[in-house]
Amino acid sequence: MVNDVDVLVLGGGISGLASAWWLGREGLHVEVWERDEHIGGKIQTRKAAGYTTERSATLVLNFRHEVDALLRESGLDRAKLPRAAAGNRYVVQGGRMVAVPTRARDLVRSELWSWNAKLRLLTAPLVPRKRRDAESVAEFISRRFGREMFDKAMEPYVAGVLACDPDQAEARAVLPRLTALEDRYGSLALGVFCRILQRKATGRTTESFSFAGGMSTLVATLANRPGVRVLTGTSAVELVPASRGWRVLSADGRSVRAARVVLSTPAGDAARLVRPLESETSRLLDGIRYAPLTVVHIGLRRNDVRHPLDGTGVLFPRSERLSPLGCIWTSALLPERAPEGSALLDCYLGGARQPEAAAWDDARSVDHCLRAMDPLLGIDGTPEMARLDRHAHGLPLYHGRHVARIRAIKAGLAQRPGLHLAANFAGGVSVRDRIVSGRAMAKEIIASLSATSARPQTVFGKRVSGLLTAVGADSAT
Ligand SMILES: Cc1cc2nc3c(=O)[nH]c(=O)nc-3n(C[C@H](O)[C@H](O)[C@H](O)COP(=O)(O)OP(=O)(O)OC[C@H]3O[C@@H](n4cnc5c(N)ncnc54)[C@H](O)[C@@H]3O)c2cc1C
Repeated sequence: MVNDVDVLVLGGGISGLASAWWLGREGLHVEVWERDEHIGGKIQTRKAAGYTTERSATLVLNFRHEVDALLRESGLDRAKLPRAAAGNRYVVQGGRMVAVPTRARDLVRSELWSWNAKLRLLTAPLVPRKRRDAESVAEFISRRFGREMFDKAMEPYVAGVLACDPDQAEARAVLPRLTALEDRYGSLALGVFCRILQRKATGRTTESFSFAGGMSTLVATLANRPGVRVLTGTSAVELVPASRGWRVLSADGRSVRAARVVLSTPAGDAARLVRPLESETSRLLDGIRYAPLTVVHIGLRRNDVRHPLDGTGVLFPRSERLSPLGCIWTSALLPERAPEGSALLDCYLGGARQPEAAAWDDARSVDHCLRAMDPLLGIDGTPEMARLDRHAHGLPLYHGRHVARIRAIKAGLAQRPGLHLAANFAGGVSVRDRIVSGRAMAKEIIASLSATSARPQTVFGKRVSGLLTAVGADSAT
């Protein structure tokens, strides 16, 4: 019996679809199974009453060439909608919004930090490298830059953007680029300086964007890649080792043979699938916790908001009691998010900081966000639109010894040749990181297929997908 597909990807979120896209680009015959009736997983754009809202990711923040390549080759770069020129980023301090300085000269004048904290920051280059094993984000930032810098800037960022608890989140997992600079150069200042020189040499800048039609355009385009077939409403329930690959069974009775299987589901679902094969790996996957998140989309008449909305939004530190994690001023960043003369604010509730807030009912959630935003923005009227998106398992928490956990999970999966991982609990949660991880995983598969000579070959100038897989396979299972 031959394999039905070269690679079966389980999970049709951005992790699975980006992986499938890269694999399809290599000429492999790929199938994606998605349990839900729609593709995209957490990514979903909704348009109603003149408002365009995102269920999860709103923006891609990119500085990676892999993302550039995928956008260029898929044609997505023509649909790119750049974010409006960056304005201020605010954090709340003592009930007021204070702009976070983004340039060195603004830092000196900034009212966000005391002079002691600024002087402490200047000594950062002299701080020796002496990281503890599995150092937390709070420990790492406080050691390098001082406690005040952590409390007023990093804590709101990590809790607000990544939904983690910085006292438990592992620095190496959450801030891999920053910790790598310390590892490589001994000093963060020297590392950042070398990075700046490198970026100047390559001309690489960071950009932030969405797409015409919203983030759904991204997932729909990836799913349309030739060589990739996406099946929705198809839930994988069993992985059975087979000769030269795997047989995978779905809840609705489908059975597919694949040379390689990619796990792109949330950790709990991956744990269930590998439990009969690798109990320790399953236990490690099961131990990854998720923070619940609720996105509260609030539409207001623009005249009812006194603030100029001259920025990206605001984050709340944990010292500001009874507040959401943050609020993005989405209509100030992207066109056509709100009807003419209206404004769209997206507030986030829950996270590791206040998980119970994600379960509040709609009325309480909207009321809470308005009470927090009113003193900052000056809101006069009542919302003309309120819409909520709830995620019981919003974002995976890179807590504890997360790097070691992921290493052990990958080692466990390696005991079962042909099982690969590309999911947001490993290698970063952002859309950018998902695309980059998908690329790395696709390379891993191509290398492994080449090693077993199961890689599709170019025959008569055409790539023939699955040819060697078919010839080499037997009908043992
Ligand atoms: C509120 C919120 C805001 C965010 N904002 C941003 C942002 O602005 N920018 C950014 O870069 N990132 C953002 N993120 C992060 C990013 O959106 C997510 O990390 C990413 O979308 C997760 O993609 P994924 O494919 O790994 O997982 P998911 O999207 O969860 O996809 C996994 C899929 O696997 C499927 N599945 C599960 N079990 C099975 C099975 N047995 N068989 C088949 N299918 C199965 C599920 O149905 C699901 O569709 C945000 C996240 C949230 C929650």
